[in-house]
Amino acid sequence: MSAKRYQMFIDGEWVDSRKEETIDVVNPTTERVIASVPKTDREQAKTALEAAEEAQPKWEDLPPIRRASFLSKTAQLLLRDKERLARLLTSEQGKPLYEARSEIEGAASNFEYYAEFARRIEGDVLPSDNPRQTVMILKLPIGVVVSITPWNFPSATVARKLAPALITGNTVVTKPSSNTPLSTIEMVRLMDEAGFPKGVVNAVTGSGSEVGDELVTNKITGLITMTGSTEAGRTIMNHASNHLPKLVLELGGKAPFIVWHDADIPWALKCAIWARFWNCGQTCICSERMYVDEKVKDKFVPAFVRMVKDLRLGNPLEPDTDLGPMVSRKERETSMGFVQRAKEEGDKIIIGGDKPSRPAKGWFFEPTVIEDVKQDSSLVQDEIFGPVVPILEVDSFDKAIDFANDSKYGLASYVFTKDSTRVLKAMNRIKFGESYINQVGPEQLQGAHTGFRQSGLGAEGSRYGLECYTQLKTCYVDWNDKPNLPYLFPYKGR
Ligand code: NAD
Repeated sequence: MSAKRYQMFIDGEWVDSRKEETIDVVNPTTERVIASVPKTDREQAKTALEAAEEAQPKWEDLPPIRRASFLSKTAQLLLRDKERLARLLTSEQGKPLYEARSEIEGAASNFEYYAEFARRIEGDVLPSDNPRQTVMILKLPIGVVVSITPWNFPSATVARKLAPALITGNTVVTKPSSNTPLSTIEMVRLMDEAGFPKGVVNAVTGSGSEVGDELVTNKITGLITMTGSTEAGRTIMNHASNHLPKLVLELGGKAPFIVWHDADIPWALKCAIWARFWNCGQTCICSERMYVDEKVKDKFVPAFVRMVKDLRLGNPLEPDTDLGPMVSRKERETSMGFVQRAKEEGDKIIIGGDKPSRPAKGWFFEPTVIEDVKQDSSLVQDEIFGPVVPILEVDSFDKAIDFANDSKYGLASYVFTKDSTRVLKAMNRIKFGESYINQVGPEQLQGAHTGFRQSGLGAEGSRYGLECYTQLKTCYVDWNDKPNLPYLFPYKGR
């Protein structure tokens, strides 16, 4: 059976790459090519930007409630096709099917949630310092928004950008990761079916360094919203400095997971498993390092390891699979590199650390727990983004907080304690964009997803995420019958 050939969506048309080049999309479970997408170039990316620029004024003129109807329709279509889309997502990304289903539901919820803002893109009316004047702050669209997304949530990350960008009157060009472009293309196909006007939504596929770079550096782009690694975010920020578009960057994470002796330990154990091994450890809010109170470590760690041993690796389409494969051979090699370095540094691999013997095919990696790790080691300081977790013992809660904050990243954090003073201390002193206290994620739509330090700029989700896609404009309006000149300027009309 030949692999299906997907196309890009530019200015309301489904098109191939000008040069007819393609990129293979590989199923990480079977290692087989399942589809191809166009490998486009700078010129075609520019065409997509021009289409979005052309369509923007008319889209902005539509009242938000009319724009909302297209978003609501997209949400309905995503739910109508949930099963098909979830299977496609699993086939290109490798996450278990039940996780893929909930990702599609999450994508639909983003469209529903932001459609509800149609009547709430509110500005301000303020008293003036001068007589008979009114000051108003409007929230206007920015223009053309470029969305650049990673492979780990190829549906939800796209919806989380497109929905707020569109409801606020911007048009978009979206570029998915070349590992997992199919879910984005299928979402855009449904947006086409939902009737979005020509040019309002465009999707291009190709490399980050060429196509992504054109989208980033072209002066048409008014805002770049990118989710991905801190390294790529930094490059984008550098390259975008030629024309200073607005930036929303959701970057890497290194979530600390603190367990204190007064926690509900059985519950903390379950949460620790979920927080690390969700999506095979490839989630930006995954627990990446555990700090366990010395008072419970001897009980907690063996129990955790027993639970890790029970995790089932296998075909992500099977209902009893806990962990599918990693997304690519390259990502698996990165995780293996971390384990190798840990071995060289004398850390204790308690379980895992290798490719499993079964399944024989696919980019599987054993869930891995490592002990006796040092705070300044690469395992604790760098983002692993795979099913590997280092555990450190700590003797005071303040030290656990200091260790948690000792990171270039600041996205998500987890704390398990029943003591209210410790809870409040964690809420105020742990400098991360999200704290999950006695619970795990995922984040909710009404919460702001933000990063301290090198985990990002701006926000996603919530009304704060919506506001990132608007440009504030202040209007000073005079309604005096006989207007006066401003008081600071001596000119009398001579
Ligand atoms: P990546 O940085 O390699 O790629 C992300 C996207 O950026 C891709 O579409 C890629 O093509 C594009 N890109 C790369 N270089 C570019 C450039 N110079 N110009 C324009 N575009 C460019 O990330 P990835 O491997 O796909 O995803 C994993 C990373 O994403 C992890 O670091 C993870 O923490 C992060 N992530 C963060 C969040 C969050 O909300 N903070 C969510 C999911 C994933």
